[in-house]
Amino acid sequence: MTLVAATTLHSRRPHVKVRQARQAQAEQNQRLSDQIIRTGAALAEAAAAATVTKAELTDAELQAWRQDLEARLETVQQHPEQNLGFIEEHLALGAREPLRLLAQRAAQAKANATPCRCRQCQVELVNQKSLSRTIDSRFGPLVVFRRYGWCSHCEVWHFPADYALGLARNAPASPYLQEVSALLVSKMPPEQAVRVAERFGLKLSRCLLHREAHRQGLKAEAARADSLAQLDTWEDLQQLARATEGPPAQPSTLVIEIDAWNIRERDAWGQTEALRSQGQPLSRWHWVYVGTVFRLDHRGQTAGDRAVISQRRYAVTRLGVEALIRQLYREAIDCGLGQAKQVLVIADGALWIWNAVQDRFPDARQRLDLYHADQHLWTVAHELYGPGTPEAAQWVAPLLRQVRQDKTPAMIKALGELQPGLDQALQKKVQTQIEYFESHKNRMHYRDIIRARKAVAKGTATPAQYLQANEPLGSGAIESTCRQYQCRFKRTGQFWSLAGDEALMCLETFWRNGRWHQLYPHVKLTSPSLN
Ligand SMILES: [Zn+2]
Repeated sequence: MTLVAATTLHSRRPHVKVRQARQAQAEQNQRLSDQIIRTGAALAEAAAAATVTKAELTDAELQAWRQDLEARLETVQQHPEQNLGFIEEHLALGAREPLRLLAQRAAQAKANATPCRCRQCQVELVNQKSLSRTIDSRFGPLVVFRRYGWCSHCEVWHFPADYALGLARNAPASPYLQEVSALLVSKMPPEQAVRVAERFGLKLSRCLLHREAHRQGLKAEAARADSLAQLDTWEDLQQLARATEGPPAQPSTLVIEIDAWNIRERDAWGQTEALRSQGQPLSRWHWVYVGTVFRLDHRGQTAGDRAVISQRRYAVTRLGVEALIRQLYREAIDCGLGQAKQVLVIADGALWIWNAVQDRFPDARQRLDLYHADQHLWTVAHELYGPGTPEAAQWVAPLLRQVRQDKTPAMIKALGELQPGLDQALQKKVQTQIEYFESHKNRMHYRDIIRARKAVAKGTATPAQYLQANEPLGSGAIESTCRQYQCRFKRTGQFWSLAGDEALMCLETFWRNGRWHQLYPHVKLTSPSLN
């Protein structure tokens, strides 16, 4: 019975292939009608968008906004445990949609007002059409229709409104989100930045942050290259000198400090397994060169005797010591190199740094960082008497004193006299240090500064000694900068690519140099301290 019924039923149903074909037909019809509705809606939307000439909210929207805000605040009122933090969050939440609508309409008005001309040739574009795009903004996604057209000179489709709005061709971020991505990712890894951004009401994916920050880093590198190109022609250089000429300052000393640290890069991304199976190293360490430049009269002391520098510029690069010196030279011009009475360069022992300095700043006074000199003497002391022993401290004390009295030749002589009594391995180690001091002895002048500092402490300093006492003995200012960069770029388990680290470090340096507004002119509106 059941079987018969089933067979009968089955025989009445169309064949499975027919059913599938009908189903497919129905789906296609549905898709088509969806598409027609969508296209119609888009056309209507585009037509509406084309008429927008100014951003405003309708009375109904304003009314809805007001009611929503009042309801939110009423909720807080009814909950005694909800503090001002809840009021702040509710108001920000309630304002989001009206602000998004206003931003969308304002962007649309701006797009509509932009002439559909080629930016290069200024000719009217042909074959003009309209296309929408979605922009990720501070207030959420905005849909904007822009006219575009073909330039037969450039042979390119142009979207003039995108340029007017500050949008990149294939990136959804608004200029504000471009800036926020750059700022966050140059300070912290993207996975952390996602959550920090969320607390500021911004829903940004890790992918968007990562990509956008890299794009912004490339933009910063291009801006840096433009600024460096000013060093290449005489006219530009003259203009630069005039632009940086302030009121006649006191004859000042310009101080430059240079250092370097290591960054870990993986050269062959995507080949991890292949390299590992061949037993090849996955990463390599590379030098990052770091420099800072400041006027001596911008250096002072805290009550706790810690040095503070009120204004300084930085240069940081993975592109080699030559690139660093060129960037530093550019920053030095902005710091008043043209007016400076003298330049003082302080660094540790790396000879190639000194050679590059000699090329760019041939008249500069050179100083070996005192604490590096000390460390080299301590190395000998530890070899002779063991690390941390009282004998080592006792042996090294008179030599450290000699260094501070500018008696480096006597100190070197003392090291030389030590050698005959030592075994060969130790002799070799001492010889290395002797060579180190030999090559730097002309950079080891500390006595006058130490004397000046003592005179200042006693209250017997001459005006010249006051100035001299302020000169740094070591490159502490740049060493602390290195540590700050390392906090972001030298984390455990972190690998970089050359393109990636250089771009982000360039962004961070724009920020530190007070040049952020050059990349993001909108910051001038609310953050005058960044100019
Ligand atoms: Zn053109």
